[in-house]
This record gives sequence, C-alpha cells and structure tokens, in this order.
Amino acid sequence: MEIIAKCPECGGLAKWNSPFYVCTVCGLALRRREYERMHDKQKEVVYDAQITENEQDDKKRRKERDYLDWFLGSKK
Ligand SMILES: [Zn+2]
Repeated sequence: MEIIAKCPECGGLAKWNSPFYVCTVCGLALRRREYERMHDKQKEVVYDAQITENEQDDKKRRKERDYLDWFLGSKK
C-alpha cells in the first residue's frame, strides 16, 4: 500500500518510499520524523500568518479611526 502525504515544501504529492517521503513535484526527501517536524512548523507558520493578518487589520482600523477623529475634529 502506498502512503501519500503532502509535501511541506511545495504542497505537492509526496509518496512514502521507505525510509523517506519523496515529493513527486520538487523531489524533496524527508524522513518520517523530519516530515512530521516540518508539518508542525508549517502549522505554526500558518498560525503566525493569521495573527499578523489580524494585527494588520487592527492597525488599519486604528488608522481609519484616527483619520475619522481628525476629520470630525476639524469640523468643529
Ligand atoms: Zn515538494
């Protein structure tokens, strides 16, 4: 039976070819433990990216509010 995994590097198809997962797209070869570690790291990266996106949203919103304050203030 073939074990198929997702390449953590390019997202392509990686096939289990003992003792490695070998990516059919970029040729990356990873041992099972390395593969799992990279996968965990990738999850963390995705999580970080989401936080950064939210922070950027907050900054943007703050900027808009500052502008609104300035705009309303200038009308007085
Ligand atoms: Zn790959």
